[in-house]
Amino acid sequence: MIYLDKTNQDAIAFVTNFIDANWLEQNDGTYKYQNIGYSQIKNPVIKFRSFFITEQNNKCCYCCRNIVNDNSTELEHIIPRTKSMLVDFIPYYQHSNILNQNVIPQIVFESSTNELNKPPFPHHIAYHNIVASCNGRIFESSEDFTCCNRERGDEFVPPFNLMQNSIQYLPDGTIVYILDLQNRNYFEILNLNKDILINIRRLWYLFSLSNLSIHQILDESTSTLEEKINIHAIANSQTIVEDFKLLETFSNPNIWKVFKEYSYFLDYYRNYSSTKS
Ligand SMILES: [Zn+2]
Repeated sequence: MIYLDKTNQDAIAFVTNFIDANWLEQNDGTYKYQNIGYSQIKNPVIKFRSFFITEQNNKCCYCCRNIVNDNSTELEHIIPRTKSMLVDFIPYYQHSNILNQNVIPQIVFESSTNELNKPPFPHHIAYHNIVASCNGRIFESSEDFTCCNRERGDEFVPPFNLMQNSIQYLPDGTIVYILDLQNRNYFEILNLNKDILINIRRLWYLFSLSNLSIHQILDESTSTLEEKINIHAIANSQTIVEDFKLLETFSNPNIWKVFKEYSYFLDYYRNYSSTKS
């Protein structure tokens, strides 16, 4: 998962202008906010989605897979759109000042008879409440393993993307919640501790111990996949017997292709190792 400080002034201005432009006079001469829903603000979606993909450096907010600005990338509401009562917002506020200061229920705007100050913004369209995630399909052909947005639904998960230093990836490839190390439930909800994802991260960890650059790892012209994984990753392991299974898994070109989409973890683990040593 990635941390987002949510300070993109262009995105904030875009949402502000959108709301202001829809403070409209009614037939009876009064004013109200009209057409300020999610489907309206994201039209055209390519423009709206680009705010999130750019600020996330083209990484899924949950699993850190590469994402691009097309329909394979989904926009996710941290406080779900189905929540409408302030009481449902409290657990999110308790974990994140960004949400507490910038996001209120949509209904407050939609029912207002006065023009309102911003922030806060209505939660269906608040930039601070939206993140971009992959579509959750690890393998194109597989319907049965999904992660990220698709798995979570409306269940409460702490807003990790807005909580600095709240999670960590361990060298074994698992993800942990630093404030509550034993609690893996939230990652079960997001399906982020599935074997394939753990193995992908473990292999990136082993590569991070090598001297190879990202380009040398991704380049397939210089050596076979088996050689590369063996010499530059598994050879760095302290537990070679257990890690040997990675060779069989990732020398399959289809799985290697998925592995490459998680290159985020090379720098992650190199930084991790430098802070631990
Ligand atoms: Zn993802």
